[in-house]
Amino acid sequence: MKITVTPVSEERRRPKPRSGEKLGFGNHFSDHMFLMEYTQGTGWRDPRIVPYGPLSIPPSAMVLHYGQEIFEGLKAYYAGDGSVCLFRPDKNAERLNRSASRLCMPEIPVADQLAALRELVRLDREWIPRTRGASLYIRPTMIGTEAGLGVRPSAEYLFFVITGPVGAYYARGFEPVRILVEERYVRAARGGLGEAKTGANYAASLLAAKAAKAKGFDQVLWLDAEHRRFVEEVGTMNIFFVLRGELVTPPLEGSILPGVTRDTVLTLAREWKIPVAERPVDVDEVLRGAADGTLSEAFGSGTAAVISPVGAFSCRGREVPVNGGRAGDLSMRLYREITGIQYGEIADRHRWIQRVE
Ligand SMILES: *Cc1c(COP(=O)(O)O)cnc(C)c1O
Repeated sequence: MKITVTPVSEERRRPKPRSGEKLGFGNHFSDHMFLMEYTQGTGWRDPRIVPYGPLSIPPSAMVLHYGQEIFEGLKAYYAGDGSVCLFRPDKNAERLNRSASRLCMPEIPVADQLAALRELVRLDREWIPRTRGASLYIRPTMIGTEAGLGVRPSAEYLFFVITGPVGAYYARGFEPVRILVEERYVRAARGGLGEAKTGANYAASLLAAKAAKAKGFDQVLWLDAEHRRFVEEVGTMNIFFVLRGELVTPPLEGSILPGVTRDTVLTLAREWKIPVAERPVDVDEVLRGAADGTLSEAFGSGTAAVISPVGAFSCRGREVPVNGGRAGDLSMRLYREITGIQYGEIADRHRWIQRVE
């Protein structure tokens, strides 16, 4: 794939966040973006990097009506030795292609996706924050752009990648979150879109998250759509429990997003000879376990936070703390190990790190 680069002119450079300014998440965007288009029959064309700016699509573009949209999320960051790194980007590229298949969208060769990311990050490396834990968030996205209101897969697509600096997730320390068990709304049903990374799943989750936040909770614990009983995810993260010394997480059976961090956690735990089970987890087992101490830890996993310890679950007006509301030992060990590997302080035995330059 030959990428054409049109660098931003000096006067159109975007203002960088001031040093010391709180970056937050998704508030700043770098100078450039990657674009390429697809037409059924002829395939992907015109891969290019251009100045960041508005897209032009017709109001009849299919994505705006029937939601053919998929995305990914990963980070580029400065490791301790000053090199720019990506963490398991091939996994994100493979997942984008699985999401694409589910939504009848075209795949993009993994090597081409990675080439696009590397070239874009290299060009905008000045945007990568230097603070440990802060990073350049990368958002590859694909949308159906064909003009038309007939309900069928779009024959045209746009793939774009934007990036922007984000702050360290734990600016105030490794703080456990309070979680509300969601009994009314569901995020995804088996057979639906739950295992695809698509905006539709996020649209489905907003109302519950808003209500939980209004009640003072950080996020919701999603239960399965059929029985409203088995745990699925926490907010937009995968969920793990330490139950009687065993690390337990729900199995990937269609309604759960297969997280890259989830896979990293499982791989490390197995190497550490910690008993691991991917099995259905009844929410009552979690609530009882938190109350009687058989549940010693719970945590979410995802690219943004890496590991997010759960300090309490609340269900039907009753709140039960986990591990006295403190982060558990395994949560901390996993967080230290994964971020240590990412920043080059711990040997990368799995070849998870890819250097951009
Ligand atoms: C992206 C995402 C995750 C986490 O996946 P990672 O690859 O670990 O970042 C978990 N759940 C949902 C719903 C997601 O969209």
